[in-house]
Amino acid sequence: MISRTDDYATVFVATCDLAGQVRGRAVPPSEHAALLRSGTGWVPANLAISSFGPIAPDNVFGSRGDLRLIPDADSAVGIPADGGAPGMLLYLADQKLPDGQPWGCCPRTVLRDALADLRERTGLEVVAAFEHEFVLEGLPESAPFSLRRFRDAEPFGTDLVRLLEHAGLEPETWIPEYGEGQFEVTVRPAPAMVAADRAVLLKELVRDLARRRELPVTFAPLLDADGVGNGVHVHLSLRDADGQPVLYDPQRPGRLSALGARFSAGVLAHAPALTALTAPSPVSFLRLTPNRWSAGGAFLAERNREALLRICPTTELGGSGPAAQFNLEYRAADATANPWLALAALVRAGLAGLTGDYDEPTVWPENTDQSVLALAPPLPTTLDEALEALEKDDVVRSWFDPQLLATHLSVKRSELAQLDGLDDAARIRKVRNVY
Ligand code: GLU
Ligand code: MG
Repeated sequence: MISRTDDYATVFVATCDLAGQVRGRAVPPSEHAALLRSGTGWVPANLAISSFGPIAPDNVFGSRGDLRLIPDADSAVGIPADGGAPGMLLYLADQKLPDGQPWGCCPRTVLRDALADLRERTGLEVVAAFEHEFVLEGLPESAPFSLRRFRDAEPFGTDLVRLLEHAGLEPETWIPEYGEGQFEVTVRPAPAMVAADRAVLLKELVRDLARRRELPVTFAPLLDADGVGNGVHVHLSLRDADGQPVLYDPQRPGRLSALGARFSAGVLAHAPALTALTAPSPVSFLRLTPNRWSAGGAFLAERNREALLRICPTTELGGSGPAAQFNLEYRAADATANPWLALAALVRAGLAGLTGDYDEPTVWPENTDQSVLALAPPLPTTLDEALEALEKDDVVRSWFDPQLLATHLSVKRSELAQLDGLDDAARIRKVRNVY
């Protein structure tokens, strides 16, 4: 928790909405203590704002109601002054009712509730890490993964890693990626809420620094219909009440424990509906096609980058055992999603798998032929299809407040309507301008 505000010219309190946009309000440092006590005002209909600007026409909240944005003191991130940009203290907030009661449509609250239910019903805790890809535009052409790309992005890269460390995001790697101008940042795994908060913050910190360095940046899922996508891969592991990892069992297929297989079964069974929350832009499904190393189908596989759920490798080097490293990677997410809601949906799906009656999923070994995997259940091919799957999946619907669900559907359908009649290239451009 940061209590000194002397170094910061403003205090900003933010939420992240269904369009994946971080929105909020600023107060002067003199109001910092009052902000922490009682938050600042907010409006329910703000949740119905679409990516491209207007409020969705069938906004269920209408013009009524009021909320408070209540900052979480532990989420504070200090962004130091830099050149002409003044320092800023940034908080993530829960959206609460004016009397301080939780609001069922607040995505951060939805994640907190999902984690509490998982804990209550199974004793398990989720550890997660979101891995982000993005493109820095305007750099000279360079080879995939090259030192040259890395150096072309200096001093941005070094400054970024320093900023992320200062902000407590625990960056692990800063990588020149495969696509033209593409980079990736990974951060250390953390308890689920911290991990999702970091995913909300990371994009803003990258964008904020890039703006100051006059480097155009985009996290859009795709920049070119035939090109390389920007994914967000969500790494998940589970710990028992004693903090012991429970996904690893060397005796079982893929070394995935029976418990891990059941958790995966829930994610696989509800995959079409889940993608409406984890990859929710009008162009997200152009990325989720086979042979792009995004997610080519709803299957679980060892160390295969076409899998919806990839069993990640472990290494004998470095002294930590495989159980602690062992994790599942959900690959069908992108930066247009709300990280709290996306993770909540994955946790709920896993919990459904743990407590419900689902078929044991096949763990495809690393050497499975692509022709076999091509027969796996497909993912939706459009956002329309994914939204329909969400509407039809009663189990997934039951996890969310009906107003939240209705708002998600109306925001996303209004985004589709706003791009109606445009070809893929024009839709991609529109989305790129926002993300
Ligand atoms: N760019 C790929 C995606 O869209 C991911 C490639 C990788 O495995 O890093 O998800
Ligand atoms: Mg990558």
